[in-house]
Amino acid sequence: MIGMVDYHMHTVLSDGRDTYEEMVRMAIEKGLDEMGISDHICLKPVNWALQMEDMPVMTSQILDLKVKYKDQITIRYGIEMDYFPGMEKELKEMIDSIPVDYVIGSIHFLGDWNFDTDQSLYGKWTNDELYEKYFGLVQQAAKSGLFDIIGHLDLIKKFRIYPESNQDKLFEDTIKTIKAHNLVVELNTGGMDRPCAEYFPGPKLLEMCYRHQVPMTLSSDAHQAVQIARHFESAVNVLSQIGFTEIVGFSNRIRRNIRLLKV
Ligand SMILES: [Zn+2]
Ligand SMILES: [Zn+2]
Repeated sequence: MIGMVDYHMHTVLSDGRDTYEEMVRMAIEKGLDEMGISDHICLKPVNWALQMEDMPVMTSQILDLKVKYKDQITIRYGIEMDYFPGMEKELKEMIDSIPVDYVIGSIHFLGDWNFDTDQSLYGKWTNDELYEKYFGLVQQAAKSGLFDIIGHLDLIKKFRIYPESNQDKLFEDTIKTIKAHNLVVELNTGGMDRPCAEYFPGPKLLEMCYRHQVPMTLSSDAHQAVQIARHFESAVNVLSQIGFTEIVGFSNRIRRNIRLLKV
């Protein structure tokens, strides 16, 4: 898969099943040119994120593997970080303390509700209200200046939660905000294996990203080595059909373009 990158994956240090080295070996086997490990960092206590005392372990392992496998694959140091409004200072301090290549900003919480792991509160609000809350937070995350990539842009649809009325304006405002704040959106193929059975983002938002010239990167959100680069052939086709000719990669938080080659 020449030129292909997978920028979103989890290991045993957060909620993944496999070790860093197992992930690296599989990425090489799948023929990726570049991979980014992005374990969860969450400032709220949860059982699916990195334990803070493991932070030095994460850094030293990734830096060691970068060197060990440098002739076979480019390894990037990423994190997937939960955005919480009002905690920007703490989030920034955390990010600045780690030598990351990129930061994925994700929304997994509406208030204290971890809506992508706990389905108990669906129905308490209308779906339109949930969309408004969720995309409002995505916009705040984009404006915060903390992140390089917005993670799984329309995660709110994960359990087949769809708006009751047309949300094009909310979507468009979100994409414009992401563009204005110079962020990248990932085409996260993991959504295909969730109840929604669609990429994050889905076709409409993807088309809006193209129309507003928001750069894209590619990711699988793998939680096991075998999921690395899942559905990438069709993902690349979808991106090219919409009109994208490039994706982007990161090194030391600096962006570069990568030609999108059909696989
Ligand atoms: Zn996530
Ligand atoms: Zn993830």
